[in-house]
Amino acid sequence: MAVLDQLTSQDAIDLENKYGAHNYHPLPVVLSRGEGVHVWDVEGKKYYDFLSAYSAVNQGHCHPKIVGAMTAQAQTLTLTSRAFYNDMLGKYEKFATELFGFDKLLPMNTGAEAVETALKLSRKWAYEVKGIEENKAQIIVCENNFHGRTTTIISFSNDPVARKNFGPFTNGFIKIEYDNLVALEEALKSNDNVAGFLVEPIQGEAGVYVPSEGYLAKAKALCEKYNVLFIADEVQTGIARTGRMLAVDHENVTPDVLILGKALSGGAYPVSAVLANDSIMNVIKPGNHGSTFGGNPIAGAVAIAALEVVQEENLAENAERLGQIFRAELSEFAITNDLVKKVRGKGLLNAILINDTEESSTAWDICIKLRDNGLLAKPTHGNIIRFAPPLVMNEEELRDCISIIKRTISEF
Ligand SMILES: *Cc1c(COP(=O)(O)O)cnc(C)c1O
Repeated sequence: MAVLDQLTSQDAIDLENKYGAHNYHPLPVVLSRGEGVHVWDVEGKKYYDFLSAYSAVNQGHCHPKIVGAMTAQAQTLTLTSRAFYNDMLGKYEKFATELFGFDKLLPMNTGAEAVETALKLSRKWAYEVKGIEENKAQIIVCENNFHGRTTTIISFSNDPVARKNFGPFTNGFIKIEYDNLVALEEALKSNDNVAGFLVEPIQGEAGVYVPSEGYLAKAKALCEKYNVLFIADEVQTGIARTGRMLAVDHENVTPDVLILGKALSGGAYPVSAVLANDSIMNVIKPGNHGSTFGGNPIAGAVAIAALEVVQEENLAENAERLGQIFRAELSEFAITNDLVKKVRGKGLLNAILINDTEESSTAWDICIKLRDNGLLAKPTHGNIIRFAPPLVMNEEELRDCISIIKRTISEF
């Protein structure tokens, strides 16, 4: 078989199994094309994408404006490293900082790198501005968090599968219950060395766990009271996914440190960023931190286009409106269907809880049937199915998808 021969789905699966590390367990479907809310497998079958690459493809697959910006920049200048200036990075930094309301942006590539950056930034701020004794800084994190896969980040995960046999781990983290303000204040009060509180506005990987109303605003107020940085990981919830540009906008919270990734590029290219004001970001000096690819001209061009698409196509408003329809329809369905225990989410980041154990294969089996019926979604944590279509979906398409989901679950 020549390397570029057209593969069948089974060929492609066999190749990945034989030659690729087994660090994922994909749904058995092999995609070869995408456009807007749809993807096609190698045999030509069309699907609705209800995962959007974990909310990286909010702007839809192969958005022409984003692809156009990327290809134009790719033909002009791709990478200079930060040893030199390039004529795209500053434009992108101005655009993004004005849009999100911060003084400065630090560009990275992946979400995990941006989280690492935020942690380093917060620690340095703690020593140089807050005045914590060297090597004593603590960062408060939440149970069931997901912030990425680096050694430091898994050090404060409580997912045994992500941690086992990857130690020794990084110190300096205090874990508290999510959505628990008493626990937060207790941790802040009992420790003078806290630099920051790192939190997901909605816990996506944990199963789209939406905290109580007011949690984020009150947590931010507590952080202010104790002079601790409120660090929002909006890698999954940001860029219009939950019906606002940022999920913290639902509670009018401005984080001290904002972490973005995924849909910052519309899924076209790895682009992540940390945003903060000068009083925090200026602790970073030349040589303290960096990335060869971070802030490259393609990333800048792609991110500007991806953010403009969100604004021009009113994707936050669309996510808010369609999300309400989705939850209303499926909540009603859940009343009459024993398999669906609960529907929850915000905007177009939603999940259904399947009435079975975490170890059962029911959610997986439902996802296989959804695939057969033309809709791609994936279970998270065994019995929860996340539903996160591209935000460019229209109401007719959403209603079509709702009927596929209802029909598939009813057939079980
Ligand atoms: C996906 C994700 C990350 C990690 O992003 P990568 O690009 O996979 O490294 C971090 N935080 C949250 C909330 C995420 O959903």
